[in-house]
Amino acid sequence: MKLRDVLKPLKVIAPEKTAEPWDNVGLQIGDINQDIKRALLTIDITNEVIEEAIAKECQLIISHHPLIFKPLKNLTTNSVVSRLALKASQSNLAVYASHTNLDLAENGVNRALGAALGFERGKGLVSLGYQEFVKLVTFVPEENASVLREALWQSGAGLIGNYDHCSYETLGTGRFRPLQGSEPFIGRQGEDEKVNELRIETIVPLEGYTDLLTQIKKLHPYEEPVIDVYQLQYPKKSRYMGEIIKLKESLALEAILKHWQKNTLFYGDKKEFKHIAILGGSGSVGLNYALKDKVDLFITGELDYHELLLAQEEGLAVLLLGHGASEAPVLKFLANTVPIETVIASTPYLTTL
Ligand SMILES: [Zn+2]
Repeated sequence: MKLRDVLKPLKVIAPEKTAEPWDNVGLQIGDINQDIKRALLTIDITNEVIEEAIAKECQLIISHHPLIFKPLKNLTTNSVVSRLALKASQSNLAVYASHTNLDLAENGVNRALGAALGFERGKGLVSLGYQEFVKLVTFVPEENASVLREALWQSGAGLIGNYDHCSYETLGTGRFRPLQGSEPFIGRQGEDEKVNELRIETIVPLEGYTDLLTQIKKLHPYEEPVIDVYQLQYPKKSRYMGEIIKLKESLALEAILKHWQKNTLFYGDKKEFKHIAILGGSGSVGLNYALKDKVDLFITGELDYHELLLAQEEGLAVLLLGHGASEAPVLKFLANTVPIETVIASTPYLTTL
């Protein structure tokens, strides 16, 4: 499968444009027309991970943390990042990163962590503004509609909650007269024409619609396709990172740890919890939200010394899982999303606890 098609579902669950402005996500190495048979999934890219990708005959590495973060001045063996980037490139390995966009994705890092800990989806922890949508309408001859529909779905249009391919279609009559200089798909210059056309309307996230316009223009049979875009006041979906889970009954620490058979660090006096915040990776950004919501327990990847001190003073128990370990459950989610065979790296992150 072409790399561009392998990446499409990833871009739907975690659109690149939703990443933080300081982040560097997306395709870092590779050619979107490259053929990909197998992908290796990892949190971090190390020499060992690249070696494993080569040994397991993968053509693509999908990582959570970007390999290339700061701009590179050269591609030599002089620094760690450029050495790894050079090695991947020379081994014909494409590299794709889904980072902060995957942190805030509805089915991303934090939902995967919640599921791994045995929790149902909770409400949002860290507020990150809104996701806005536009309504996109286009008109196409009936027989050309299916290609266009497919492109819409592949680009993340028509996704509402647990439903995809959401759209509305009406059959109508399109009228036009090709003028001099035109090259009409249907009709002749100087003659009025009428065509049975479908009006297809669907919903698209605001951040993705300009790419979709380009795509539709490319696939639409008409020389001058009509595409209307309406800004919507509703729906406007709150965007969050991390979750706050309110349990019906208190849960003992041991019961939580039964789901997590890896090293942890626990700080706190309480041993039973009902109101729990979770945030994969670094917990810094979620600490104040957890305190404000008066949760009993904050489960996260890591916190620094002063943050732990603050939590202790405020009576908030903290369970640290390790940065990479807390993010690793998302690799299974990614394995189900990527439309080709995948392998999860043997050592996908640095063990820190
Ligand atoms: Zn991280």
